[in-house]
Amino acid sequence: MTLPPPPPTARPALRVRHFCKRYDDFLAVDGLDFDVTPGEILGLVGPNGAGKTTTLRSIVGVLPIQEGVVEVDGHDLVQDEVAAKRALAWVPEDPQPFETLTVAEHLEFTARLYRREDWHAEAERLLERFELVEKRDALGGELSRGMRQKLAFCNAWLSRPKVVLMDEPLSGLDPRGIRSAKQAIRELAAEGVAVILSSHLLELIEALAHRILILDRGRRVFLGTLAEARATLSPDANSSLEEIFLAATGERREASAEPEPEGGAWS
Ligand code: ATP
Repeated sequence: MTLPPPPPTARPALRVRHFCKRYDDFLAVDGLDFDVTPGEILGLVGPNGAGKTTTLRSIVGVLPIQEGVVEVDGHDLVQDEVAAKRALAWVPEDPQPFETLTVAEHLEFTARLYRREDWHAEAERLLERFELVEKRDALGGELSRGMRQKLAFCNAWLSRPKVVLMDEPLSGLDPRGIRSAKQAIRELAAEGVAVILSSHLLELIEALAHRILILDRGRRVFLGTLAEARATLSPDANSSLEEIFLAATGERREASAEPEPEGGAWS
């Protein structure tokens, strides 16, 4: 059951309008529009190749914006790049820390980069929360996959962002790490941070997301709450997100030559 959306606010934390991305002649993302409000967790789902990672990597500035507008906390990502990026944090699918910096040095680097003051106590709490205390002096190149993920969480939290983007953030975590990361993500949103959570783990999206954005072949096929998805995309009022996902993306594949349905929450 997805959570009801947080109350609307005057300004979205993240605003994306007519975002398109081409790789040479291939249109990977085609005219994407969406907002994420402060305190909202938006679940981003879609089949392999739908354009999820391309969208996230463009918003965080790893890929250049070719077409469209991305605003972070009111700052245009192209016109006002530093201010926009200062408000953003990114947890990639397979984080690659600096091989020759220790865990503690990574946190110091992040604190300095984001001009945090009085960050030491918070860094300690994050190391405890994400079970990295014993690894504080380990080099980035010595960390396991799950530890690299946990360090990425610590860095993201320490930067005090307005918007956090996460691409399969739980892959590589052990069961205790998964539980603690889920709780940490909920708390982050409760503090007013806007979160995009991209994952193929639909139970995770169902448990955490206020709204869901379904992409398929670079296009938005649904944006709304799970209840709206059930009402619009599924004949069954008790459908799981998995059933809705299969219906939303399968129908498009089977009838890809036909126009999209009009009205409802389809777009
Ligand atoms: P997955 O669930 O498999 O991670 P995704 O939704 O994250 O998929 P993307 O990685 O964004 O999908 O890829 C979207 C499309 O863009 C795919 O068709 C992919 O082949 C293509 N693509 C991604 N990166 C490149 C690249 N560097 N050069 C050319 N095409 C690319």
